[in-house]
Amino acid sequence: MSFSSLGLSEQLVRATSDQGYETPSPIQAQAIPAVLSGRDVMAAAQTGTGKTAGFTLPLLQRLGENPRTGKGPRALILTPTRELAAQVHDSVNLYSKYIPTKAAVVFGGVKINPQMMKLRKGLDVLVATPGRLMDLYQQNAVRFNEVEILVLDEADRMLDMGFIRDIRKILSLLPAKRQNLLFSATFSNEIRTLAEGLLDNPVQVEVAARNTSAENIKQSVYPVDQSQKTALLSKLVRDNSWDQVLVFTRTKHGANRLTQKLEKDGITAAAIHGNKSQGARTRALADFKAGEVRVLVATDIAARGLDIKQLPQVVNFELPNVPEDYVHRIGRTGRAGESGHALSLVSADEGKMLAGIERLIKKQLPRTEVEGFEPTNNLPLKPKAKADPSRARNRNGNGGGNGRPGGKPKSFGAKPGGRSGGRSQNGGSQRSRPAQRQSA
Ligand code: AMP
Repeated sequence: MSFSSLGLSEQLVRATSDQGYETPSPIQAQAIPAVLSGRDVMAAAQTGTGKTAGFTLPLLQRLGENPRTGKGPRALILTPTRELAAQVHDSVNLYSKYIPTKAAVVFGGVKINPQMMKLRKGLDVLVATPGRLMDLYQQNAVRFNEVEILVLDEADRMLDMGFIRDIRKILSLLPAKRQNLLFSATFSNEIRTLAEGLLDNPVQVEVAARNTSAENIKQSVYPVDQSQKTALLSKLVRDNSWDQVLVFTRTKHGANRLTQKLEKDGITAAAIHGNKSQGARTRALADFKAGEVRVLVATDIAARGLDIKQLPQVVNFELPNVPEDYVHRIGRTGRAGESGHALSLVSADEGKMLAGIERLIKKQLPRTEVEGFEPTNNLPLKPKAKADPSRARNRNGNGGGNGRPGGKPKSFGAKPGGRSGGRSQNGGSQRSRPAQRQSA
């Protein structure tokens, strides 16, 4: 299959070859003809599947069928974060290089005036985060009467971030006759309700979550006490000579704290999260990409939309609250056919989160303990299964424990930050013990 066999014009096909794309990804193979047909589309797609080109290419083709008569925008693409907005805008520019379509991006955290000027000049495609778009609308800087195509990208994340009111307001301002494309990684009841009100007899597009089935991402869990995580991370960065590692924390505060500790430890690090100015975020990402910063510490929201080519290593310093976020996080490595490694530092209090993740990805992740960093409290063995007798045996210590005292279910309730027995920080070797731990 080729891009031209999907019905794309020669100019758009040429732009994809310039990017080195040889064949359409599965989501593109399904979404491109559906969008070209003019129908509404509801697509379940993770980041990393090529979804951006999946909606951008056919959208550009449809806009190209008629010239712009007013100031636009004729296509509106809403995204949850500034980074994703910037990245989608870059993609629009790349794919439209052989056609006269004009695009712009607007998001919060930067001055509004230059954005107003851009809008005044007229454009075809506007990529925007919902909050800033509403601000611009309220200041009469943008009108929606020419919108022919609406894209909600990463709709689940926009709802998680509390954008539903802005989105509903924007929807109410759009012309009734338009094409709607909704892309979301997950489909909660809230997303389904939004989709029902928005989409008219949509073509449903779904591809296997790339990352859950991806063979090219090696995943492992390192059980460790919360209080020892920073020391273990420093050691891993050094011992493995990681030069480019993306580390996830659950909170902005946690990201700052970890960054400072790493820097103190002599490892160059930068944090990227919602409280940072756009300038600081862009700079951190540029330094990381350029290899000037070894560790980029990010929260889930900030990391959405980061596309770093050939990122070899991702570390979950803390597991995410939402299991799906784990899949997004590890999708930052092993992109576009490269191999990658995703490693999670998991303390006993995160046992339930780990179980939720393993249930979602339908496999148990191998546990590897690092000498000198053995946790005081054990991690549970497997996703908690309902009334599983073998599980019950494990809990009684037959066959499932790790052989140290205290290996019973108390691991679930253990407090974070408990003092570890083994505080040695250096020099330990890693011991992988998955087989031993998988016995039931
Ligand atoms: P996305 O899921 O849209 O964030 O895209 C993930 C990455 O895949 C981006 O770096 C794209 O440049 C790349 N990509 C998109 N489509 C293709 C394709 N057909 N072949 C190879 N790489 C692609």
